[in-house]
Amino acid sequence: MAEVLAATFVVDEELCYGCGACIALCPTSALDLKERLAVVKQEKCTLCEYCIRSCPVFALRIEGGD
Ligand code: SF4
Ligand code: SF4
Repeated sequence: MAEVLAATFVVDEELCYGCGACIALCPTSALDLKERLAVVKQEKCTLCEYCIRSCPVFALRIEGGD
């Protein structure tokens, strides 16, 4: 039986260098910068994907949900 998994917004901690580009773009202010790392508040993220293209090092993605 396939389980229905909720999609999750993920920041790749190895890639993110804290430039802040994604934070400025998020319409729901779901992103914060903590010690040069983007951190998402999952409850605020609508999975709109606006921020994903803004990341110069492709550190942002949405996992699951399909
Ligand atoms: S996917 Fe949308 S709501 Fe979620 S962190 Fe990125 S810009 Fe914000
Ligand atoms: S745009 Fe990418 S590198 Fe910049 S803070 Fe966001 S996740 Fe990190």
